[in-house]
Amino acid sequence: MKDDSDKDSTCTICGKPSKEMICEPCRIKIRGEALEHKKEEEKAGRVDKK
Ligand SMILES: [Zn+2]
Repeated sequence: MKDDSDKDSTCTICGKPSKEMICEPCRIKIRGEALEHKKEEEKAGRVDKK
């Protein structure tokens, strides 16, 4: 088996070369979206309860 550790990996989100599976900008974006989604869910839950 060949060692592909020399091969450059790419971000699974934007496809740009990245040392990690998800590059930092994408990670930050995902984190922000997740937080927003959580907020909206909480809000919706409150409205739905009433
Ligand atoms: Zn990316």
